[in-house]
Amino acid sequence: MIIIFKKNAEEKKIEEFIESWKAKGFGTHLSKGENTTILGLLGDTSTLDANAICANEVVDVVQRVTAPYKMASRKFHPDNTVVTVGSGEGVKSSTFGKNTIGVIAGPCSVETEEQVVEIAKAVKKAGARFLRGGAFKPRTSPYAFQGLGKKGLEFLLTAKKETGLPIVTELMDIRQLKYFDDVDLIQIGARNMQNFDLLKEMGKVKKPILLKRGMSATVKELLMSAEYIMASGNENVILCERGIRTFDNYTRNCMDISIIPYLKRESHLPVIIDPSHAAGLRWMVPTLAKAAVAAGADGLIIEVHNNPEKALCDGEQSLRPEEFADLMKILPKYAELDGKRC
Ligand code: PEP
Ligand code: MN
Repeated sequence: MIIIFKKNAEEKKIEEFIESWKAKGFGTHLSKGENTTILGLLGDTSTLDANAICANEVVDVVQRVTAPYKMASRKFHPDNTVVTVGSGEGVKSSTFGKNTIGVIAGPCSVETEEQVVEIAKAVKKAGARFLRGGAFKPRTSPYAFQGLGKKGLEFLLTAKKETGLPIVTELMDIRQLKYFDDVDLIQIGARNMQNFDLLKEMGKVKKPILLKRGMSATVKELLMSAEYIMASGNENVILCERGIRTFDNYTRNCMDISIIPYLKRESHLPVIIDPSHAAGLRWMVPTLAKAAVAAGADGLIIEVHNNPEKALCDGEQSLRPEEFADLMKILPKYAELDGKRC
């Protein structure tokens, strides 16, 4: 249930009103926007009398929220959530969810220090604001390269130091968290989107979370997974569409472009697109990236490799640095279509 306060309501009376709900055992979520202040009530509100609440002098409107996700819902939080990523000495932080397109780029997997540093420098030069690189890799086959683990994170940190780019990397298991102190944005991958215990743990972490849509997950399930993280205490969540499975396999996955306007309407969280895992085909990645930006995405996560033929993972969908640079040159035109800049 959401309670919209009157514009001229006294601050002190609003506070007392909120306290009264807490005392009754309800969770509360206050959103102060430019024009309205909204209180979200969390818990079993089914027996509450909306008219009785409306009678309070500070209350303007009471609305029931029928969606099962509350904190992730735009009804609870009408303004866009802006997530800031990046901290540490010499690191240039940037945001998702404002009027800029945040581009994350880098290899699927960290392979060597030289590889990740070289790619980091190239993507930075081209205009990427964040560096990606997997150290703990979820692979379909147990015999495939599993990532360099802790060592991979060390190489990624060297690249962060050398370029000042904030880093994004996947966490598969809560036991890995002890190595993530200097990671700026934690990725929860498609395969873990409904690992609810892991999501609850991500709620306790003081870092933003990049939540990827499961390959067969509905939009509602994605938002419920975001809700798990938020309800556990972390509201800095970025949603990521990375392609879903359909009956057709001419691409690795099917990029669901309609999820962008839908999520932007339904939720206040930033939405980014991963055209690399959606297409699975290098040549198609720039087209999908441009389409995503034109459709209103707040950012992109793109795989880039300096020697894709020799890549240990996902080489066939990785752009070469010069291809990535070409895309970054054209992207501002598409961002303008949605009133954003790169
Ligand atoms: C990745 O980003 O390299 C990855 C494994 O992504 P996803 O979870 O979307 O498959
Ligand atoms: Mn990959």
